Amino acid sequence: MDIQYVGVVGAGVMGSSLAQALALTGHNVFLVDISNDILEGVKSSFVNSIRLQMMFNKDLRQEDPATVLNRVTFSVDLRLLADADFVIENVTEKWDVKKEVFKRLDEICQEHCILASNTSAIPIKKIAAATKRREKVIGLHFMNPVTLKSTVEMIPGEDTSEETVAISKKLLTQMKKDWIIVNDSPGFVSNRVLMLTINEAICLLEEKVASAEDIDRIFKSCFSYKMGPLETADLIGLDTILLSLEVLFEHLNDSKYKPCALLKKMVDNKCYGRKNGSGFYEYSQ
Ligand code: NAD
Repeated sequence: MDIQYVGVVGAGVMGSSLAQALALTGHNVFLVDISNDILEGVKSSFVNSIRLQMMFNKDLRQEDPATVLNRVTFSVDLRLLADADFVIENVTEKWDVKKEVFKRLDEICQEHCILASNTSAIPIKKIAAATKRREKVIGLHFMNPVTLKSTVEMIPGEDTSEETVAISKKLLTQMKKDWIIVNDSPGFVSNRVLMLTINEAICLLEEKVASAEDIDRIFKSCFSYKMGPLETADLIGLDTILLSLEVLFEHLNDSKYKPCALLKKMVDNKCYGRKNGSGFYEYSQ
């Protein structure tokens, strides 16, 4: 059986990109956020964004962007997800927010519905414990932007069933994605390493060891990275980086994850990176 009705909760950087990736691969998507303004913004930029995705990724089925948009239902009402077969949560990286969303999803969604989290760092076991369907909860850590990244970090929790893993693989196959399975641990593999690297790069900038451009150039020119750590931070969102480091610091109790002062100052000053035009670099909106 194909998974046709997919719920996406949270329509920020990741939720909007995930909704596009799902709609582009023929899925009917319910995209839910608490903010009507955010949903309106995603809706108004959707067609242009889809056009760009099709230009950059020739593997995508070339079709009218309006048809792709028609597969997405935008709403502020979580109850819409009562018809979903699979839900992927992408709300702010704060435990209190995610806990409440998972409790409500557990009440609203059909018994067979799988609840996945795209958390950057919160252990899946902890998220699953907020529900009465621990065996149907899994971590699916999509990369940004979802349409352009081929591989997903898959994290079964302690109680996740084989069936949930199999259905998750099926959805990823339908989305033409590959996956790498890792064990449940704060930050998994990707963010345990990436967040540390980004934090250290910000410390280097703070200590004036090098400019932002030169820190990034070292990684691109010397190590052949496509993007440097500060460009990557701007892409992810500095607010999300700070929250992820705080989750890692809290769960691993290791001072190496303590967010550096410059990162906190930038987030206090609402420099979030690409998403609002200002971070380590400036972006036209
Ligand atoms: P974001 O701040 O851009 O978006 C979060 C969205 O969640 C906002 O639109 C907000 O209005 C919405 N939201 C908050 N509470 C909600 C609720 N109760 N119900 C519905 N919507 C709610 O953040 P993001 O970068 O999209 O990150 C979302 C999740 O994905 C986080 O857990 C983050 O760690 C993870 N993640 C982010 C990236 C990345 O590159 N940004 C990559 C992988 C995973």
